[in-house]
Amino acid sequence: TRAYLGAMERSRELNAYITETPDKALTMAEASDKRLAAGDAGTLEGLPIAVKDLYCTEGVLTTAASHILDGFKPPYESTVTSNLWREGAVLLGKTNLDEFAMGSSNTTSYYGPVRNPWQDKTAPSRHLVPGGSSGGSAAAVAARSALAALGTDTGGSIRQPAALTATVGFKPTYGRCSRWGIVAFASSLDQAGPFTRTVRDAAIMLRAMAGHDPKDSTSAKIEVPNFEASLTGDIKGLRIGIPKEYRLEGLSPEIDALWQQGITWLKDAGAEIVDVSLPHAKYALPAYYIVAPAEASSNLARYDGVRYGLRVPGKTLDEMYANTRGEGFGDEVQRRVLIGTYVLSAGYYDAYYLKAQKVRARIAEDFRSAWNSCDLLLTPATPTAAFGVDEKQDDPLQMYLNDVFTVTANLAGLPGISVPAGLDSKGLPLGLQLLGRPFDEGTLFRAGGVLE
Ligand code: GLN
Repeated sequence: TRAYLGAMERSRELNAYITETPDKALTMAEASDKRLAAGDAGTLEGLPIAVKDLYCTEGVLTTAASHILDGFKPPYESTVTSNLWREGAVLLGKTNLDEFAMGSSNTTSYYGPVRNPWQDKTAPSRHLVPGGSSGGSAAAVAARSALAALGTDTGGSIRQPAALTATVGFKPTYGRCSRWGIVAFASSLDQAGPFTRTVRDAAIMLRAMAGHDPKDSTSAKIEVPNFEASLTGDIKGLRIGIPKEYRLEGLSPEIDALWQQGITWLKDAGAEIVDVSLPHAKYALPAYYIVAPAEASSNLARYDGVRYGLRVPGKTLDEMYANTRGEGFGDEVQRRVLIGTYVLSAGYYDAYYLKAQKVRARIAEDFRSAWNSCDLLLTPATPTAAFGVDEKQDDPLQMYLNDVFTVTANLAGLPGISVPAGLDSKGLPLGLQLLGRPFDEGTLFRAGGVLE
C-alpha cells in the first residue's frame, strides 16, 4: 500500500485521482496485515485499489466529477465497494471521470482532464486523453498507481479507456453486479466492472465484486462462478464471430490490421472463425444517444440544490433550482439533460424514445441469433487510439463516435472485455473487444487470456 501511495504522489500530474485517501488506506492495510497473520485472509486481502468517484463510499467525498455534488460525503457504501472491502481490498482513493460518467475522453470533469500516461512518440509533449468516462481509473492502473481500479460502463466507459491505456477492462452482464450506491447515469445500461493489468486479475476482481443484491431489483439471482478457473488457455473449437457490420467505412487501416491480427491469434489457438451479421448494429449509436440521455435526464432530476451538495440561492424555489443546476452542471451534462427531456416530451416520445427502444430490442435480437452460430464476437474496441486533450472538444458528434463499437453491448446487456492488443505507429495502445452471451463471462475470460 505504501508503494502504491508513493506512485500516486509521483504521478499527480496525470490528475487521475480526485480524492486520495492515504490515511484510510494505511488503516485498512494494517487491518489486512492482522487478518493475514491470523490466517483469515479474503481473496483481495491487502490489495490496494482505486475506485471511480461515481461509487458512494461512506464518509469519503463522492463527486461524480460534478460541481453539483460539492462536499457530498455519502452516509452509505455502495454494494460493490462493500464487497471488495469484505474481501480485504484497500482503498487508495477516488478516481477522476467525465462528469456523471458522460463522455469518452475524461475532459468533462469539473476537476479537470486526466492525462494518459502513454505518449505519442512523434509528439511526446502532447497531452493525450486516457479515454472516458472512467479515465482516472484507467490512467491509475496504467501508471501503476493502483493495482486495479473500479469503473462503470454505460456505453463503453470501461472498455474504451482500457483500450486507450493498454489495460484490461471488463464490462459484466447487466445485473451481474449491483448498481446500488453507484451514482446513476442511465440505469438500464450502467454496469460496474474492473480495470486491471491482466485478464486473470480482472477475473479475480469480478468474482469479488459480483453477486445478487436485494437492494438492486435489477441485480441477477444467479450464482457467481470462480471466473479464474475458466482461464484454461484452451479455446479449441470455440466459435468466434466476426460481425460484418463492424467493418465501418473509413475504418483506419491500423485498426483493421489489429482486428485481422486478433483473428489470426484466436485461429492459431484453435478457435473457429465465423462470419456473422448484426443487421441493426448501425443504429446502435443513435439509439444509445437517445436512451442514455433520456434516462440521465430523469436520474439527474434529484440534484435540485436541496438534497445533495451545491445550493445556489435564488429569490424563489424555482430560481434556486435553476441557479443550482446552471452552475452545478457542466456543458455536456446540460446537453444530455436537454436531449433527454426533449426525446421524452409529449409529441416527441413516440418519434424518438419509443423508436430507440424498438431499435434496442432489434439489436438484442440480432445478438440472440448470432449466438446460434458463434460463442463470442471479436471486434476492435475503439475506432482510434488516444487523441489530444484539445481534440474533438467542440464537436460532440465526433466525440460520440468513439463509442461506436462499445454501445451495442450495453443496449443488449451483454458482457464484454477489452484486451490490450498492440501499439499503433505512434507507439499508442490499441485494444480488441470480445463480446459474449449473457452471464457467460467465463468464456470471455478464457478467450481474453489467449489474446493478451
Ligand atoms: N461515452 C459514452 C457516453 O458518453 C459512454 C459513457 C459511459 O459508459 N459511462 O455516454
